[in-house]
Amino acid sequence: MKKIAIFPGSFDPFTKGHHDIVLRGLSLFDELIIGIGYNVAKKTRYFEIEDMVNKIKTLYKDEPKVKVIIYNELTSSLAKKHNANFLLRGLRNTTDFEYENTISQMNRKLNPELETVFLITSPHFAAVSSTVIREVHKFGADISEYIPYEV
Ligand code: ADP
Repeated sequence: MKKIAIFPGSFDPFTKGHHDIVLRGLSLFDELIIGIGYNVAKKTRYFEIEDMVNKIKTLYKDEPKVKVIIYNELTSSLAKKHNANFLLRGLRNTTDFEYENTISQMNRKLNPELETVFLITSPHFAAVSSTVIREVHKFGADISEYIPYEV
């Protein structure tokens, strides 16, 4: 059976930490779908969604195993729609763990065939956070060190 994984997130913006998870995920899965969701709690985005999709598509233009989509539904239903049997997520710290543990238990209930796979962040990217990048960008700081494309 083809191993298809969804890597869901807000990706506001997509960072070098996310890129690292994708590259490592590519050695585990036959197909990797990056799903940019509208996070209900976060409501509005800072980086425009279409722009982010284009940036990520360009980044993986030579990697046929990667697809990029926008979605606005439960991740578990999205996975069913794309015949994905794995959810890929990254873990940086205990705060991530608490949150990921809760959503992964819920996803298991909603779609028992969907297995969540966690990759521990590479130490180099442990401090890279979309939230902090947005904050410093707002005040005009250079964020190019943290993102794998030109802003
Ligand atoms: P969400 O809003 O769903 O948390 P994010 O875009 O913030 O979406 O993150 C998507 C996934 O990537 C999450 O599993 C998150 O823990 C993980 N992630 C974010 N930053 C990093 C990083 N620097 N290293 C590894 N994983 C990360």
